[in-house]
Amino acid sequence: MWYNYPKGNIYNYLFLDNIHMIIKKCARCGKLIPYGGRWCEVCKPIAEAEQEQRRQERQKERQRIADQKRKDDPVTRFYRSKEWITLSKAYLQSVRWRCERCGRVAEVVHHKHYIRSPGGWEKRLEWENLEGLCSSCHAAEHGRTPGDGKRRTPGRSKK
Ligand SMILES: [Zn+2]
Ligand SMILES: [Zn+2]
Ligand SMILES: [Zn+2]
Repeated sequence: MWYNYPKGNIYNYLFLDNIHMIIKKCARCGKLIPYGGRWCEVCKPIAEAEQEQRRQERQKERQRIADQKRKDDPVTRFYRSKEWITLSKAYLQSVRWRCERCGRVAEVVHHKHYIRSPGGWEKRLEWENLEGLCSSCHAAEHGRTPGDGKRRTPGRSKK
């Protein structure tokens, strides 16, 4: 038989053939269940599915905010602009697609005065601020190994 004891406590005690165990209420339907779980057997799969759904929704929302931030980033927008695409192509042509440091094929136009550093934004279209680099020299410049895309040193201007 079920016996509530002590009254008002969140725990209840089940007395059965002189053996008693701590029980509590299912967080979903309120049915009394053995202490340790959160839900009764009926509610468990439902509650877990709901939990998983909420987790996925939170994840999606975080992703959406991150995507929006990236889209709104002026530097990202600049690199996609016609202005930059035209200028960087013209620059690479002027250095004959040769890396200005090692002579391999240049793939990127680097901003000597980093675009995200103070004052760098103003120099983003200045010819003298540009440098044609191969991907490994560019990666080395930014302190990352080619291809990993991770920047170990934040964009700072080199002197
Ligand atoms: Zn339940
Ligand atoms: Zn760069
Ligand atoms: Zn190079």
